[in-house]
Amino acid sequence: MVAAREQPKGAKLADILIAGAGITGLWQTLTLARAGHRVRLVERSAEPFADAASRLAGAMLAPYCESESAEPLIAELGLQALPLWRALYPETRQQGSLILAAPRDLPELARFARMTSHFERLDGAGVAALEPAFAGRYGQALFYPSEAHVEPGRAMPALLRLAQEAGARVEFGARWDEAEPGSYDHVIDCRGIAASPDLPELRGVRGEMLVVETDEIALRRPVRLLHPRFPLYVVPWAENRFMIGATVIESGDRGPATVRSALDLLGLAYTLHPAFGEARILRFAADVRPSFPDNMPRITLRGRRILVNGLYRHGFLLAPSLAALVAHYIKDGTTRQDVFLEDYCER
Ligand SMILES: Cc1cc2nc3c(=O)[nH]c(=O)nc-3n(C[C@H](O)[C@H](O)[C@H](O)COP(=O)(O)OP(=O)(O)OC[C@H]3O[C@@H](n4cnc5c(N)ncnc54)[C@H](O)[C@@H]3O)c2cc1C
Repeated sequence: MVAAREQPKGAKLADILIAGAGITGLWQTLTLARAGHRVRLVERSAEPFADAASRLAGAMLAPYCESESAEPLIAELGLQALPLWRALYPETRQQGSLILAAPRDLPELARFARMTSHFERLDGAGVAALEPAFAGRYGQALFYPSEAHVEPGRAMPALLRLAQEAGARVEFGARWDEAEPGSYDHVIDCRGIAASPDLPELRGVRGEMLVVETDEIALRRPVRLLHPRFPLYVVPWAENRFMIGATVIESGDRGPATVRSALDLLGLAYTLHPAFGEARILRFAADVRPSFPDNMPRITLRGRRILVNGLYRHGFLLAPSLAALVAHYIKDGTTRQDVFLEDYCER
């Protein structure tokens, strides 16, 4: 599984360019700058995070819940990432995840339990004790106590600050171009879906989300409402705001959210709790998740270029672990077969 390669030249203290300041590029920058490398991060958008899919994420750090539909590698890397998040970003909220289903959808809850692990089964009293807003509404639930979440709009600027404090140079409004000559030991390509011309298998999986504001309901942790068509989740953010997401649509369309998705998301949010009926809609947006055909992340080694991509639904969950893997590779050439791909093609 783990193979040691010859140490690349200049590996001790490398000159590294990172392209793309989404969650992938931020964690790479922070990790490598803290390891002592000379790191320059360039991001094409002038406004920080304005063009990153990461800005729309629910940013749930939910390795066990994601096991419902993901390969075991996602949980393994996600579990390694949780302590990294907590160590570098103390605002990481570890309040667990709560999974609910309407009475007619209880078979969905049973299926979710079969596919996942590390949960507690709750009855109605247990649900009410965790989230008083749901008292008397749900008689059964699953609770995953070790899961966490962050808020992208707060976490991403904080990671950026930490990277700069660690010595990284950061430039916004600076587009990296492959043709640009440079004397870097490594170029780490974290351009998300913009890298698809260089990664032909990469596709977009569209996700639509809302942010609403209401003081009619308070939640402490992400809540998922299972549904046969698609599960809804609501993530509590600061100042009475809630992120409601998300559609998962096989489409590379980055255009605005559709009426159908609005009806689906808002209808399910209202089903979860009628208090959302009075909430004010602050934002309704869509973007695509950069994804490979197996929906697994991949670190592609192509000469001095290292492409970190395909984080699909798991960018926040996986970015710290992928950064640690790249840091190990730069240090001593270590790779793991299930994440790294050596690509010798001349492009
Ligand atoms: C609605 C929704 C909900 C989600 N919920 C979750 C969740 O709960 N948990 C989770 O872990 N993940 C979640 N995700 C997935 C997560 O958002 C993605 O996996 C993640 O955003 C991918 O990050 P990235 O940094 O690879 O790409 P991006 O965030 O898209 O960043 C790529 C960056 O590269 C820049 N760039 C492109 N070309 C260039 C260039 N030539 N030069 C310089 N910069 C360039 C772009 O402008 C962009 O800023 C969700 C996604 C969506 C859409």
